[in-house]
Amino acid sequence: MQHFDTHDVVNQAPPFENVNLYACDPALQQALLREGGAAAADALHQLGARLGRAEVLDLGRQANANSPRLHNFDRSGRRVDEVEFHPSWHALMTLMIEAGVHASPWDSGQPGAQVARAAQYLLFGQVENGAQCPVTMTYACVPALRQAGPIAAKWLPKILSRQYDPRSLPIEHKHGALVGMGMTEKQGGTDVRANSTRANPLAPGEARARFGDEGEGAWALVGHKWFFSAPQSDAHLVLAQTDDTGSAGLSCFFVPRFLPDGSRNAIRVQRLKDKLGNRSNASSEVEFCDAVGWLVGAVGRGIPTILEMGGYTRLDCVVGTAGIMRAALTHALHHARGRAAFGRKLAEQPLMQNVLADLALESEAATAFALRLARCFDEAADPAQALLGRILTPAGKYWLCKRGPAFGAEAMEVMGGNGYVEDGPLARLYREFPVNSIWEGSGNVMCLDLLRAFGKTPAARAALGAELALAGSANPDFYAYAARLLADLERPQGDEYGARRLAERIVVAVQGALLLRHAPAYVAEAFVASRIAVDVGGAFGRLPAGVDCAAILERALPIY
Ligand SMILES: Cc1cc2nc3c(=O)[nH]c(=O)nc-3n(C[C@H](O)[C@H](O)[C@H](O)COP(=O)(O)OP(=O)(O)OC[C@H]3O[C@@H](n4cnc5c(N)ncnc54)[C@H](O)[C@@H]3O)c2cc1C
Repeated sequence: MQHFDTHDVVNQAPPFENVNLYACDPALQQALLREGGAAAADALHQLGARLGRAEVLDLGRQANANSPRLHNFDRSGRRVDEVEFHPSWHALMTLMIEAGVHASPWDSGQPGAQVARAAQYLLFGQVENGAQCPVTMTYACVPALRQAGPIAAKWLPKILSRQYDPRSLPIEHKHGALVGMGMTEKQGGTDVRANSTRANPLAPGEARARFGDEGEGAWALVGHKWFFSAPQSDAHLVLAQTDDTGSAGLSCFFVPRFLPDGSRNAIRVQRLKDKLGNRSNASSEVEFCDAVGWLVGAVGRGIPTILEMGGYTRLDCVVGTAGIMRAALTHALHHARGRAAFGRKLAEQPLMQNVLADLALESEAATAFALRLARCFDEAADPAQALLGRILTPAGKYWLCKRGPAFGAEAMEVMGGNGYVEDGPLARLYREFPVNSIWEGSGNVMCLDLLRAFGKTPAARAALGAELALAGSANPDFYAYAARLLADLERPQGDEYGARRLAERIVVAVQGALLLRHAPAYVAEAFVASRIAVDVGGAFGRLPAGVDCAAILERALPIY
């Protein structure tokens, strides 16, 4: 208790900190084990303890309270386009890169590496979300870059390195590298075919004169990108039109920040975006003034090349959202356990229990779904898993991210006025939710992609059916729901108007199946009763009578 002249400070819940974020999450631990990530359990336990420390959680606050600043020119007036970050940003990046979140599935050789990484990502998502952006893009670029022989040989060792090296230097002098992606232009982000940035091959003589052997295959890019996150990255994959060359369409280019001759590439950072959230991260607008790039993939095959990257970034939108949900839930539940109103702790009041338990169900279902989806990526060599991943990625990105803002608002409200102010974490978490829905394929675009996936690969229906069948027929509401869904999927899927509803039904069915198979009955039955037996409601806190809220909340955050 603290004494002021006028009053004592009482009934304020202490901050949720100095907690092992992994050890306090049974649903995450169980999902890791069953989806194939068991080898990482000890490391995750250690990581959870580290990330839950007060000083680490505070890095997230600091990095967002001190947004990056752009310096276009040095003191002598030379163009530099440098971004200056707060030390907390660098500390967060160091933590993630040292843990291998940007690279481990590509070089660890461990079975279940995608699942293990997803669990790491979900834990980091409870600390800070802006720094997750460059880490995601770097992770996602690797499969595409592996197609680019000489670039891969030179760059992959730096990209996969566990050293975070923020220095602005040519790659030869660096210990680690980050890679971003640039597709979105002013006139169109979703419809990248509208890109106006053009690439033309450099004359072989000029390229060789400038860059020696490395000049082979160099192109010059002229144009712009309207969103270009992490411009401090050592390179970006950039889409540009190459149809002047006779191969119609967009191509994908590797555009480094420094060129092989040591000079800065002509990527002019116009300004940094002033964003709703994700304020720790620099997102910029850039112009390419004959910036030099090298082809990744074939000429005219830019969209499939960048879409390969998109599969991984979309996975991270799903996992990242599960992480933010978990953060919002734990802060809210911890607060409600520590604060009383009308003579009783908030967490013991029936209506608040309904709200909190409903949030806990959503969070556990998101975690279960995210790690199941990560396993599809681990097992992509199995056609059934690849097909399942192909449909669950867009459906999950749509539905989990769509639930995010409502989830964040409700968790904020649990904390009352304290939730709305910047002293606590909820305001920041709330602002983080929408970006996962918007970037890398906004909600509608994901639902249309889902239809496209069913259209191109009708066998995806069987893969989904096999996954749902694992839950059996013991729960009649689930069984009927899954049967209706699969029957509807027997028809060709071309109904754009109803595509959101379809995506939602698929995700809810998979979540229900996972919980029925693996979660305690009080969790699974409450999920089915509130989301499958009836339509998902517009607000949280509509669980029917008979749900064991106390048991759900004890599982959500065991009292420590
Ligand atoms: C914080 C942040 C960081 C970003 N970083 C990057 C980055 O690093 N690199 C990059 O390339 N981009 C980046 N983006 C851009 C982002 O990926 C785009 O904003 C997104 O893809 C949508 O494109 P758009 O803004 O042009 O919207 P539009 O394409 O105009 O879409 C607007 C809306 O229309 C909907 N829509 C589109 N087509 C259809 C249709 N056929 N039917 C129904 N609805 C439709 C979309 O779902 C969306 O809701 C970032 C965005 C944000 C907010």
